[in-house]
Amino acid sequence: ILEIENLKKAYDEIKVLNGVSLDIKKGEVVVIVGPSGCGKSTLLRCINGLEEIQGGEIRLQGEIISGRQKNIHLVRQKIGMVFQSYDLFPHMTILNNILLGPVKSQRRDKKEVTEEAEKLLERVGLLDKRDAYPRQLSGGQKQRVAIVRALCMHPEVMLFDEVTAALDPEMVREVLDVMLGLAKEGSTMVIVTHEMQFARAIADRVIFLDKGEIVEEAPPELFFTNPATERARKFLNVFE
Ligand code: ATP
Ligand code: MG
Repeated sequence: ILEIENLKKAYDEIKVLNGVSLDIKKGEVVVIVGPSGCGKSTLLRCINGLEEIQGGEIRLQGEIISGRQKNIHLVRQKIGMVFQSYDLFPHMTILNNILLGPVKSQRRDKKEVTEEAEKLLERVGLLDKRDAYPRQLSGGQKQRVAIVRALCMHPEVMLFDEVTAALDPEMVREVLDVMLGLAKEGSTMVIVTHEMQFARAIADRVIFLDKGEIVEEAPPELFFTNPATERARKFLNVFE
């Protein structure tokens, strides 16, 4: 569903992605791990059309979504992204934060989207917060709202960049559980995380990125018990 071919990205002189190729199938959960600064966030930002790229191509359902031919509208419709900082609008209620994209940019019926938003909020245990404001929620709650907001756009692919990194430990679980639920339902997801246990549990495939290139690519059991490269072994040792 998502094809990345020989993707190159540099900031001025600094090369960040040096020819990354990756095919993601519909319903697949791909987890990207790697040392700080190796280019994980940059890769997600390139997929999501937030960065100019210097080479290669990204296709979604066969359509080019990178470079000059990029249709940013299509990207916004079909790719959902959740970041470390849940950028909810502080002056809008939780429900209105969620409705914004579907109603304003997708021009869907407000009543219908509201019903859907309420169902999703109920699913993540936050229906009682629909009229609250972001500042009245905990970090974990805000992050679940950010996931609901992305889901309400009915994206083909969901991107997650260290969505639990800024959370207190006791709030991490509730967010990861929502993501595990999505994976079970067959959502196509690309996840960047430093939670190795979680990566192992949720991934269909693990990608190990180092210095802007894919060094290893394997099923989680194999990657975490018997990595093929010294670089991956060194990286995993840190988490022991
Ligand atoms: P982390 O695990 O710490 O989040 P990461 O793998 O997500 O790291 P990136 O954020 O993709 O790493 O950054 C990759 C490299 O690109 C880093 O060396 C970083 O300094 C550089 N970089 C990222 N954004 C910019 C920018 N806007 N301008 C210049 N350099 C940047
Ligand atoms: Mg990052």
